[in-house]
Amino acid sequence: MKKIVIVLIAILSMANVFAQVKVVTTTTVISDFVREIGKEKVKVDYICRGDQDPHFVEILPTYMLKIRNVDLFIKVGLGLEGWAQQLIDGSRNSKLHVVDLSENISKREVPTTKTDGSQGDVHPFGNPHYWLDPENAKIMVKEISEALIARDPANAAYYEKNTHEYLHRLDAKMKEWQAAMASKRGKKIITFHASWIYFCERYGIVAAGYVEPKPGIAPSPSHNADVINIVKNNGIKLILMENFYSDAAPNQIARLTGAKVYKTATAVGGSPQAPSYIAMMDSIIKAFDGI
Ligand SMILES: [Zn+2]
Repeated sequence: MKKIVIVLIAILSMANVFAQVKVVTTTTVISDFVREIGKEKVKVDYICRGDQDPHFVEILPTYMLKIRNVDLFIKVGLGLEGWAQQLIDGSRNSKLHVVDLSENISKREVPTTKTDGSQGDVHPFGNPHYWLDPENAKIMVKEISEALIARDPANAAYYEKNTHEYLHRLDAKMKEWQAAMASKRGKKIITFHASWIYFCERYGIVAAGYVEPKPGIAPSPSHNADVINIVKNNGIKLILMENFYSDAAPNQIARLTGAKVYKTATAVGGSPQAPSYIAMMDSIIKAFDGI
């Protein structure tokens, strides 16, 4: 009898040790941060793959099952995931706590007038691509840490320690990135989508034009001609683009101007060079080599 009790206590305490906070994130950048902070005390999954356009995710019934029994659903916000609410509603998870990481971000390109479909409107509440500035990544990490602690206060010290260590690593990398970009200040580039304003502001880069006429609107021949003029008139050497877009229009601009097209992941797992947020940022900084 005594043995059984001891075994039972052992099993129960193990269950406690292995109790995990269950998290689903919209993007892989967020799930990377969750893993860094929660490590083995969290179970994390994501909806949008790293090589997928986060603006346009087709909802599958399996996505709703993914969040049916989880504790936290963490998103970028600012309308990036126009598909998220349908997912949350469809999950019928009344315990689900939704965390919007954009709340404490200093937002850019917030429209002052109501937007409509003709303006592209995939950025209806401002530019949502704030994770490409590592200073904003730090804000995201802190928010995620607080959300995990609120859900699992018994392990607060553990999450705080991991958060501190990760922010320390990020700070060290930010010094490297700042140094690599110091000589690039004031350089003009073309980007495919309007996803780089936070990155550009951080490093003093100027986005002089976009391959898309409006965010979410496909390139057109007449707009491409305008971009070609911008590239020629400004001696622009770099066209920066997410690797999930078609490179047909950027390649045409490159052929006629000599600018280089650099395709990169802007989410974790979006390319072999981006197994983590830090590696992803490393690969983005490399785009500026030689320009
Ligand atoms: Zn966008």
